[in-house]
Amino acid sequence: MTKDWNTRTKLVHEGSRRSQYGEMAEAIFLTQGFVYPDAESAEARFIKAGEDEFIYARYGNPTTRMFEERIASLEGTEDAFATASGMAAVSGVLMAMLRAGDHIVSSRALFGSCLYVLEEVLTRYGVRVTFVDGADLNQWRAAVTPGTKAVFFESMSNPTLELVDIRSVSEIAHAVGALVVVDNVFATPIFSKAVEQGADVIVYSTTKHIDGQGRALGGVVCGTTEFIRKTLEPYMKHTGGSISPFTAWLMLNGMVTLDLRCRAMADSALAVAKALEGDARIARVIYPELPSHPQHELAMAQMGSGGTLVTFDLKGGKEAAFRFMNALEIIKISNNLGDAKSIATHPTTTTHQRLPQAQKDKLGITPGLIRLSVGLEDPRDLIADLQAALAASAA
Ligand SMILES: *Cc1c(COP(=O)(O)O)cnc(C)c1O
Repeated sequence: MTKDWNTRTKLVHEGSRRSQYGEMAEAIFLTQGFVYPDAESAEARFIKAGEDEFIYARYGNPTTRMFEERIASLEGTEDAFATASGMAAVSGVLMAMLRAGDHIVSSRALFGSCLYVLEEVLTRYGVRVTFVDGADLNQWRAAVTPGTKAVFFESMSNPTLELVDIRSVSEIAHAVGALVVVDNVFATPIFSKAVEQGADVIVYSTTKHIDGQGRALGGVVCGTTEFIRKTLEPYMKHTGGSISPFTAWLMLNGMVTLDLRCRAMADSALAVAKALEGDARIARVIYPELPSHPQHELAMAQMGSGGTLVTFDLKGGKEAAFRFMNALEIIKISNNLGDAKSIATHPTTTTHQRLPQAQKDKLGITPGLIRLSVGLEDPRDLIADLQAALAASAA
């Protein structure tokens, strides 16, 4: 599948399939089923479907297949399977590969729904889950045992932008034969080199940067053909978490501009982080490309960029944070990320509201913390909007 093309060329052309009409743009095959020319063909296809043969949209569809091939080629994996949401991808991977009695080690700083799947769902089926501080390699070493089936982590955590060292954790996991599953949403498929660094299975919520315009939920799992087709696909196609062809088409088109968008957003994020750092009203600015980030060197080695999010802690706590958010004009208050529109989130009262205070403290989720997803607006306008809101926050 993967040709020797560079990223932008792959994003425009890889995975394209054309019908007998030779259409230029990728077609949306809005069909749940497929017509067989005769009964013998139907029988043959159920025995083994060929490359261009499909049975039912829950199993696969030509538009979905184009999206899967395009992202697999970008990520550098043999194959991919597209899902109805990022959570269908995360839960699908874990449920498909784990059985009662199995052991998984996970970093503690997780997206809320990922935490729910590990803490509340897997344990219900007898899977043993150990949580570690993802940045502390000694904790990974201590938790992983010869019976560990998998490790799971977000390569850059939400909302405090803490990194997990993919290469080192992969070495620790592989030494005992555990599979390395990475939720790579914050790193984006553009800045990620997770496969090169040892990850086995990479999961994305395509709701974020891949769609990039906040239109649809989607997800994808990238891995070896063996894992995707033998372990994941049977589970996904029989339990119903497959993507819709229309959504796959949106994602396929989102990928065309993914490299351009992520790089522009990361450039603006760096400009924003620099403009905020040192401001008297801010206790700290967290952005991996700033030398002040405690894992700056790891971030630059692992991603070559600080990514598209900037997090900062207002000295005035929740009151200052709310005054700040309410004064923003361009930047919207919401909880998505990776969107063309810049978005400000107050994690402690929204995305992380459910967590007990002690756990928020452990994760550094303070009352003044704001997570900013930097969009595609002119960074000069964003900085002016932020500065006006900072003035209002202190008033
Ligand atoms: C958004 C997100 C998810 C879940 O994705 P959905 O598309 O909302 O289901 C999982 N992990 C991370 C890190 C996310 O940001």
